[in-house]
Amino acid sequence: MEKVDFVIVGAGVVGLAVAAELSFKFDDNSIVLVERHNKFGRETSSRNSEVIHAGIYYPTGSLKAKLCVDGNKRLYRFCEEWGIPHNRLGKLIIARTEEEIPLLESILKKGLDNEVADLELLDADQVSKLEPHVKAVAAVSSPSTGIIDSHSLMSRLEWLARQHTTMFAYNHEVIMVDYKDNGYKVTFRGPDGQMDKILCKWLINCAGLAADKIPSWLGMNIGQSAYRIYPCKGEYFGVSNNKSGLVSRLIYPPPLKELKGLGIHATKTLDGRLRFGPNAFYVDSIDYGVNEEHALEFYNAIKSYLPFINLADLHPDMAGIRPKIQGPRDPVQDFVVRHEVDSGFAGLINLIGIESPGLTSSLSLARMVGDLVSTWPA
Ligand SMILES: Cc1cc2nc3c(=O)[nH]c(=O)nc-3n(C[C@H](O)[C@H](O)[C@H](O)COP(=O)(O)OP(=O)(O)OC[C@H]3O[C@@H](n4cnc5c(N)ncnc54)[C@H](O)[C@@H]3O)c2cc1C
Repeated sequence: MEKVDFVIVGAGVVGLAVAAELSFKFDDNSIVLVERHNKFGRETSSRNSEVIHAGIYYPTGSLKAKLCVDGNKRLYRFCEEWGIPHNRLGKLIIARTEEEIPLLESILKKGLDNEVADLELLDADQVSKLEPHVKAVAAVSSPSTGIIDSHSLMSRLEWLARQHTTMFAYNHEVIMVDYKDNGYKVTFRGPDGQMDKILCKWLINCAGLAADKIPSWLGMNIGQSAYRIYPCKGEYFGVSNNKSGLVSRLIYPPPLKELKGLGIHATKTLDGRLRFGPNAFYVDSIDYGVNEEHALEFYNAIKSYLPFINLADLHPDMAGIRPKIQGPRDPVQDFVVRHEVDSGFAGLINLIGIESPGLTSSLSLARMVGDLVSTWPA
């Protein structure tokens, strides 16, 4: 049986960033990245808002806050170094009524606590100078929020990993993992249905929506360790081109109280299209269709601050699914990035619940994995 140093499961943006990081850091090691699809980024990493978040909302001290703030800076530097299309267009979190202004103040404080240093509170006149078609009484401006071409990012990460030691096994699905003699026996099914096995010292689980499978195959109690994934869908609606130009930044209302997502907001694509979303609802199966009947929910959410939008302007765009470890009645959960040595699985690093801001945090998540590897055994 072939033996390698690292097996990474999943070629989303996180698995690719981990592959690039490890192949630079441990360039005399053998690395195999196993992905069930025929290419990278076929799941959540290509079905999101492509926003480079600043790190404003997340609980202070959480991995989400720290890795997002750090990841934002790393990602812009990476974009500049490698020519990845992006636009630091900025975002406004708006108050639609005077009653929402205290909410803005608490968002501003949270952002400053999280060390997002460039936030600014704007009054109605300042907002209308920046965005004359947006109805708001005040806003928090976040100039370091932007958008990125996530496909180009993933393509560059794949290229960087290939330049070094990573071998890519596309069309291969991991179907079982056993822990044996201080290493992992990974069983996978190839494109013709044939089974194969590989042994590795380090197993890095970046399997997104299926990230709870590896710990459960190994006999970890995923309920007890709060690793169970609850898929939570988010749909987008687009608008016709002639109205897209009426907004030039990302516009967010204050986040929802129940915190399944940031609330239906207005995002821009790099080619200038305006779209709305994502909404948030739990699902039992993976289906990326957009329910046209949800257009009314979107219209009701945006009409108060974008009065130029009519219901008839909205058309279904696309959907993505969040790999949440926060169940329907649970409080907000942080990213899990854990070397499972204390659970008896030395060499297993789980990345679980990597929902938003996972794209923004990808390079920092990868850095963290590299540090976990290099500090063990201490
Ligand atoms: C609607 C929505 C909007 C979002 N917006 C933003 C945003 O604007 N900004 C931001 O920072 N983040 C955003 N996110 C979050 C971001 O998209 C994710 O955090 C990120 O894409 C996660 O990447 P990943 O590599 O962990 O997962 P994925 O992209 O899902 O990759 C996991 C990979 O593992 C593979 N895999 C799984 N099981 C196996 C197996 N057994 N064998 C082989 N391969 C396997 C899958 O095929 C998949 O390719 C959003 C997410 C959603 C759903």
